[in-house]
Amino acid sequence: PAKGEKSALTLLIAAPRGFCAGVDRAIEIVERALERYGAPVYVRHEIVHNRYVVDSLKAKGAIFVEELDQVPDDVPVVFSAHGVPKSVPAEAEARKLTYVDATCPLVSKVHRQAERQIEAGRHILFIGHRGHPEVIGTFGQVDPGGMTLVETLEDVATLDFAPEQPLAFLTQTTLSVDDTAAIVDALKERFPHIVGPKAEDICYATSNRQAAVKSIAPGSDLVLVIGAPNSSNSLRLVEVAERCGTSAKLIQRASEIQEEWLAGVGTVGLTAGASAPEELVREVVDKLSEWRVVEEHTLTSAEEKMVFKLPRQLA
Ligand code: SF4
Repeated sequence: PAKGEKSALTLLIAAPRGFCAGVDRAIEIVERALERYGAPVYVRHEIVHNRYVVDSLKAKGAIFVEELDQVPDDVPVVFSAHGVPKSVPAEAEARKLTYVDATCPLVSKVHRQAERQIEAGRHILFIGHRGHPEVIGTFGQVDPGGMTLVETLEDVATLDFAPEQPLAFLTQTTLSVDDTAAIVDALKERFPHIVGPKAEDICYATSNRQAAVKSIAPGSDLVLVIGAPNSSNSLRLVEVAERCGTSAKLIQRASEIQEEWLAGVGTVGLTAGASAPEELVREVVDKLSEWRVVEEHTLTSAEEKMVFKLPRQLA
């Protein structure tokens, strides 16, 4: 291009991307709770891991706190999509709080599997990331000592269980499909009698978004993933792109993109984690269009039709 003229940029947008059914439902729960009960409505933990979403709900009257003891007695409280330990609803009941549980039904399903495995007398090996609220919530479904965290392949080698000890594995919903398959294989090799879910617990949205990144990354010079640094599924999308040999960056907002990133770049891949709204995708397209003449292509690798029912209190 002549000096001052913008050069072309091909933009490969992954589909599916962005909001999943569990995130849609969690946000709608907070909005409906605000309508039903009036502001303020308290939310324990970020409803979903996205600052833009949290700020928009704050503007409507939601107040975000980390623990239940920060919630006054006479206001309703919503529990986040990631799920909570059993002690949290128990405490809410003891305090006679009005609460609405926005735990994603696919996370609740893992909670029920955990209870069933414990009832069957098995110790659970839980594949997940230490400190993530979903992991804390799932551990909190069983008595202390009933579950052991497995984060990596190396962890599998250090597990110490007698050969006759009944074992089961479960997983966090937002893991890397490929890493988890490798860890599950290693567990089955070390403990051939271990039982697990028929399909692993990684949710449809996580698997679809990772597959969609695999379809855009190989043809891209750079992949941008819109998501928060504490969003597990978004971090996995960065890893998946990098494993395709393409450099990838996690961004929360378009304003973080630096023009230098586009030096020598002809094709950018773009996706968004399950907690990132479509507005932020459009914002990135607009930002890129300030520097380059953007030609958008959407690469669809799956159709999603999943919708989850609202809790009865708000339906
Ligand atoms: Fe539910 Fe999966 Fe969305 Fe998490 S990423 S809220 S498990 S659908």
